[in-house]
Amino acid sequence: CGIVGYVGPRDARDVVLEGLRRLEYRGYDSAGIAVVADGELTSAKKAGKLANLEKVLAERPLPAATVGVGHTRWATHGGPTDRNAHPHVSADGSVAVVHNGIIENFASLRAECEAEGVEFTSETDTEVAAHLLAAAYRRAPEGPGRLAEAMRAVCRRLEGAFTLVATSALEPDTLVAARRSSPLVVGVGDGEYFLGSDVAAFIGHTREARELGQDQVVEIDRRRGVTVTDFSGGIAEPRAYTVDWDA
Ligand code: GLU
Repeated sequence: CGIVGYVGPRDARDVVLEGLRRLEYRGYDSAGIAVVADGELTSAKKAGKLANLEKVLAERPLPAATVGVGHTRWATHGGPTDRNAHPHVSADGSVAVVHNGIIENFASLRAECEAEGVEFTSETDTEVAAHLLAAAYRRAPEGPGRLAEAMRAVCRRLEGAFTLVATSALEPDTLVAARRSSPLVVGVGDGEYFLGSDVAAFIGHTREARELGQDQVVEIDRRRGVTVTDFSGGIAEPRAYTVDWDA
């Protein structure tokens, strides 16, 4: 339902939670957050209102981080439970994804992962993307752009409508996202970047936005900036615009 992502010098925990609050108006049944700090991915998620997630975070705080993703869920596959809330983390703990939309062919992809020994922890259509992404990441060439390359490989296999945002424990300065028939906007600040399912997620921080086209992947790297490609890796130019409404 609602997605927010942040990479930059500020505490990603605060920026992500604030973004989720600004997306509450869309309605949701669960919420969650994942951050990468010191080469480790940690996450928290909870059914119900954001206040429930904040209570979990007060009891078990996540570490301060410079990259993070957040999600408010409107369940389509699997009930509104803690386990079905996003982010979904791969079995090896290496990547986390949040997802808006529906992955239509999740059942066959799930069967394929299960045949390879992956144990699922939720009933969502989304979780398959986390496991596929971790497997694609292991296969992708090492070096800059590896997470984006893995995301493109996964997107080529997905059917349906999706906005996906991913973080990797191995890429603490990078956020990668993809979209098909579901919105995704990049916010460009001063040395920091935002992702949102709509601009409300980051309007308090910047009005400089980049809109992604259909079937595109964006890699946001603190040093290398914003790189957009199609699902095959061909470079694309996102539409730049200035958000001109008050929020
Ligand atoms: N289909 C996904 C789920 O049920 C995402 C729902 C959403 O867009 O919030 O978990």
